[in-house]
Amino acid sequence: MAKCGVCGCTDYDCRQCVEKTGEPCWWFGPDLCSACAMECRGLTLWQPWAGFVAMKLKPVETRFWYTRYRGPVLICSAQKSDEDWVKVTSRPDVDDIQEPCCVLGHALCVANLVDCRAHEKRDEELSMVRFEGYAAGRFSWVFDKKSIKPVMAFPVRGRQRLFRVNESILRKAE
Ligand SMILES: [Zn+2]
Ligand SMILES: [Zn+2]
Repeated sequence: MAKCGVCGCTDYDCRQCVEKTGEPCWWFGPDLCSACAMECRGLTLWQPWAGFVAMKLKPVETRFWYTRYRGPVLICSAQKSDEDWVKVTSRPDVDDIQEPCCVLGHALCVANLVDCRAHEKRDEELSMVRFEGYAAGRFSWVFDKKSIKPVMAFPVRGRQRLFRVNESILRKAE
């Protein structure tokens, strides 16, 4: 039986979604209901960074732009990987880190964005990138680590910036 990894609704009990949206949800992902998914904004990250967010290792993302948005974000992986990630990571134990889910073009987790502020040296550990080279003009997008809920990866077509999550981002698996 499918169960939403975020709100816990099932095929048999979806009363809370009906209360929230006025209609029963459908399965947006294998374990993510449409009511939870469409409440999110989407954000695309290169792999393996997106996977590290889903693993709760990277609750801080850095961007050159600020957002006033606070709330749930559907973290998606881009169609492209960061080949140099080992060179820029702040984690000295990089070899010990479990290989993240590196699938491209998929939604991986839902995380609550709680802050957006200037990127600082103290963010080095949680952003997993060394401060040098990532400092100037960047913002730290801070996700509440406890709120990060991995979902079964499903194919999406991510968009630029913080995008609206709806049926249009769903993609057929190749
Ligand atoms: Zn749900
Ligand atoms: Zn539901």
